[in-house]
Amino acid sequence: MTVTRDGKTFSQRAHKPTDPNVPTDTDGVPIKDALKPAFTEAAEIERWRRKLSRIDSKIKEHAEKFPAVYRTAVVQDIHASIKHIQQDLLEEKPAIVCCYCGADNPEGCTECGGRGFLRQKLAWSAREDLRNMNRKTHGIEPLAEGMSQHGQ
Ligand SMILES: [Zn+2]
Repeated sequence: MTVTRDGKTFSQRAHKPTDPNVPTDTDGVPIKDALKPAFTEAAEIERWRRKLSRIDSKIKEHAEKFPAVYRTAVVQDIHASIKHIQQDLLEEKPAIVCCYCGADNPEGCTECGGRGFLRQKLAWSAREDLRNMNRKTHGIEPLAEGMSQHGQ
C-alpha cells in the first residue's frame, strides 16, 4: 500500500501478524531490529526523567527542613528548571516508528530525517491517519480522537 503526503509517495508495509515478544513503540507498532538501539535509549531517557523528579523532591524536602538556607524563589526556580529539562528530554525521546515511511526505506524520508522513528515532539504532531494506518497494519485499534496530541 502507498500513501501520498505533500506530493510524495511513501510505501506502507503489508499486514503481518504481530509477535507478542517483539518490542513495540508507544503506538504498539513492532520495532525493527535496526531501530531497537534508539528505543532502548528512550528507556534510559525515561530513567533520567524519573531521577530528576527524585532530585527535585529531595531539594524541596531539604529546603523545607532548612528554610534558613534556601530562598523560596530559588527553590521555585530550581523546580521550574528541572521541569523544563524533563520536558526537553521527553520531546527528544524516540516515540514511534516513523508513520510516513514505516521505517522501510527511511533514507529519503524528510519527516524522520532518515532515522526511521519520530521523536516524541514530532510524534505528537504526526498525522493521526498515518499513525492509525501503521497501527491497523499490526492489528491495533486506532487512536481515540485527539489521543495523539496528548503529552504526559
Ligand atoms: Zn520516515
